[in-house]
Amino acid sequence: MSSRSSINISPSGTLIVVSGPSGAGKTTLVSHVREYFVGMGNPLHFSVSHTTRDPRTGEDEGVAYHFVSSDEFLQMANHGEFIEWANVHGHMYGTSVREVEARLAEGQDVILDIDVQGARQIASNESLRPRSVSVFVFTPSFEELEARIRSRAMNSEEQIQMRLAEARREVEHGIQFYDYVIINDDVEIATDCLKAAIIARKLQSSGARQTIKELAHRFRED
Ligand code: 5GP
Repeated sequence: MSSRSSINISPSGTLIVVSGPSGAGKTTLVSHVREYFVGMGNPLHFSVSHTTRDPRTGEDEGVAYHFVSSDEFLQMANHGEFIEWANVHGHMYGTSVREVEARLAEGQDVILDIDVQGARQIASNESLRPRSVSVFVFTPSFEELEARIRSRAMNSEEQIQMRLAEARREVEHGIQFYDYVIINDDVEIATDCLKAAIIARKLQSSGARQTIKELAHRFRED
């Protein structure tokens, strides 16, 4: 069997949860592992979240996010249309059932880029937890995180301080439940670590053990 088909053996889809402060490099890592899995014939569907924040320059509706009003968001939340949702930096963000459930049921893998509050909701969801793997991505130091946030020049000084304080709180109190933590010092190594976490999870839920047992059973009968 070639290495290409050997990772594509999980009968049900895996929910891959990636979190970490803005500036940790999640978007790049997610994009690299998605390219890798496409090349392996096992594309990871990126779940497009709903948010009440305004689109930034270059962000198209339905690609980075579904941009909705607070009323629309709350209506969806009240109707149970999110598998998780949270208030992040003053705006609402949520992962819709529609983006995730049917795909997992069809055996497709789904990747989420969500904050710690959302990841915690998935970790405590009895139906989703067994089908998921969660990864927290961080910079090698807080100085590095601050430098990366500043280099984006997207935030005011107040927002920068708020994001740093939030990152410190998350690291001190909020990340125990993640399956893996990746320090993104070197993007290639960090990408390999994320690939490894996903593949390890898919192998755990694969039917390989059962397949081998069935083969052994048939072998005795022959
Ligand atoms: P940004 O506004 O910079 O795109 O994202 C801000 C934060 O919101 C990021 O940490 C991102 O991971 C998080 N986020 C994006 N979508 C969701 C979501 O659907 N649920 C939760 N809980 N967080 C989200």
